[in-house]
Amino acid sequence: MALSPERSVAALTSIAALFAVNACSTDAKTPSVAPSSVDAGGTADAAPEGGTLADRATALVQQMTLEEKLAMMAGRGALQNGFWPSPGVSRLGVPDLVMSDGARGLAAPQFVPGSPVRGTAFPVASARGASFDVALEESVGLAIGEEARAYGGNVILAPVVNLLRHPAWGRAQETYGEDPMHLGAMGAAFVRGAQHHVIANPKHFAANDIEDTRFSVSVNLDERTLREVFLAPFKATIDAGALSVMTAYNKVDGTYCSENTHLISDILFGEWKFTGFVESDWILAVRSTVPSVVAGLDIEMPGANYLKPELIQAGLDSGDVPLEKIDDAATRIVRAELELAARQDPAEPAQDVVGGAAHTALARDVARKSMVLLRNEGNLLPLEKAALSRLAIVGSFANIARLGDDRSSNVVPAHTVTPLDGIAAGAPGLAIDAIPTDTPTAADASTISAASAAVVVVGLTADDEHENTTGTGGDRKTLHLSAAHEALITQVATLNPKTVVVVEAGSAIITTPWVDSVPAILFAWYPGEEGGNALADVLFGDANPSGRLPVTFPSEDADLPPFDRTSTEVAYDYLHGYRFADTNAKTPTFPFGFGLSYTTFSLSNLALSGSSFDAKGEVTATVDVKNDGARDGDEVVELYVSYPGSSVVHGPEELRAFTKVHVSRGGTAKATLVLRSKDLEYWDVGAGAWKLEALKYGIAVGTSSRDLPLHAEISVP
Ligand code: BGC
Repeated sequence: MALSPERSVAALTSIAALFAVNACSTDAKTPSVAPSSVDAGGTADAAPEGGTLADRATALVQQMTLEEKLAMMAGRGALQNGFWPSPGVSRLGVPDLVMSDGARGLAAPQFVPGSPVRGTAFPVASARGASFDVALEESVGLAIGEEARAYGGNVILAPVVNLLRHPAWGRAQETYGEDPMHLGAMGAAFVRGAQHHVIANPKHFAANDIEDTRFSVSVNLDERTLREVFLAPFKATIDAGALSVMTAYNKVDGTYCSENTHLISDILFGEWKFTGFVESDWILAVRSTVPSVVAGLDIEMPGANYLKPELIQAGLDSGDVPLEKIDDAATRIVRAELELAARQDPAEPAQDVVGGAAHTALARDVARKSMVLLRNEGNLLPLEKAALSRLAIVGSFANIARLGDDRSSNVVPAHTVTPLDGIAAGAPGLAIDAIPTDTPTAADASTISAASAAVVVVGLTADDEHENTTGTGGDRKTLHLSAAHEALITQVATLNPKTVVVVEAGSAIITTPWVDSVPAILFAWYPGEEGGNALADVLFGDANPSGRLPVTFPSEDADLPPFDRTSTEVAYDYLHGYRFADTNAKTPTFPFGFGLSYTTFSLSNLALSGSSFDAKGEVTATVDVKNDGARDGDEVVELYVSYPGSSVVHGPEELRAFTKVHVSRGGTAKATLVLRSKDLEYWDVGAGAWKLEALKYGIAVGTSSRDLPLHAEISVP
């Protein structure tokens, strides 16, 4: 039954009460499915002693009673030891699924009263997207997965691979950015890392890119846009081996995602050959029994509302639910658990990895590599400590560690480092004038003027952009900073010509009113528990910034497609982000892929392995990246494709490959980028199939969507 928006809110409140958080100290550690009989090599079909994993899963399910199978189709409804459990069948050694959120770190420990353990709070996913560093993201996935396993879990409810269609989306910070290829690559890296230890759970399937109306909106889009833009990142995570998927709250083309046969059965199971399990988002994502089970939903979370055994049984009795659907659900769950057991790192991590020294160091490294230097007139940055007599640090945000949203992605770490503390620790002996207010007094103004330089910290909070947990709200109302922060920036820049603006936020902002009045801007995102230390590393030049924007920073709202956060029917077109801006001759303030460094790079010698795809369907591009400056640094090399003469709509240039290379000062490194013919295919709506057009495709290589100096061509005859 579809609920009206008003009824959804009421239902949310009452159902939320039903599943009220019930933290208890039960030890959630569960036995794994006997890995001894599974090939530790861990491929989907490797289980020599008991046949394939599929055979073993089928054999186990055959031993289950119908009651046991039905019980597996909904979570237990309450937190245990900080995790959301969903029943297994203990008499057969099938463990519970034990789930925790994990978009920026392990959420579970915060729900366990008195737990001495705290998860590591990493920079948010949008920050990690800005690193353009897939190996680094794999390490983050590994670390979060390791923490989840060490604390007793076996499923991490991440990564978010919903496309950032518009930066006003309240959960923009939880995803990696606006480009489908980049988003998929980062999400796949997280999956590969996390699944050394736990089942990853790409979410929210699909087209969940608005918060205010997330419980009711129908996202209407043509099949090509759906597949090439919104599903492509999910496909990348499935190809990376993700063992589960979470459905979204919203509808796609009029049908709720949890009962969307086209999304779940046709595409995910049918075309993508996904063999893991599908669970719902929490509470309001399931609206029916028969349509959901028939569409292929395996588990309702966090507890049984529509997938109660008696309701499913009624569907079986009436013949509306075929018995195979129940067997399929149980088989998918068991198979995913077997596959996890087969591929898991053999050594059980000790609990002290959670929030431990190694992950703290990783959080700092990731924060350093995510910050994006947007402006640096006169090379104001890095600040040379010896040349400073006093440094003013201004703004209420200077005194707070901004970790991001405080809803489901929240992580409560054991320690945090504020910008002020990090800068003070990074420059011992330097006289620091702390002015942690957004309304400096006349005396403060004199102090700011007298300082050798001023750092002003501004940005957004969890009140400005957040997940919608109350029925409404969450999306940003404006892409501008608050009037108070815009005024503060202008005031400080007027007082001190050496002003550095540090912005902490989850996604793009409009900087038009003040961008030209400040010499330096560093976009720090929500930089995690070690954010203050990482900020000091970058400000003082101990780290050379190498983050690049994974989202277009528009100069005005019209640079982006409209964002409708009130309608319950929205239409998504093929173009958004830089592709929309490029098509409509809009000039963003800072384009997708952009970011400065403390050195400069020049790109040359673009060479392709052939003028067409090889037998493997690949073309390899190489480029020389020369570091022309005096510091070592990392450059992100981006390869875009254009489609002159194509019969279907495309952005003028579309990102198809990227890589990050380290280049020593004065040195040259070779960047290698692989383009696959599969990535150039388009969905032919009429034929209902992927097609590769016979074209001369343009290849453009550079360092942002608006800086592509090198060109080549490949032909598909
Ligand atoms: C969010 C999911 C999250 C779940 C459990 C939902 O409201 O949309 O992303 O995993 O809550 O906390």
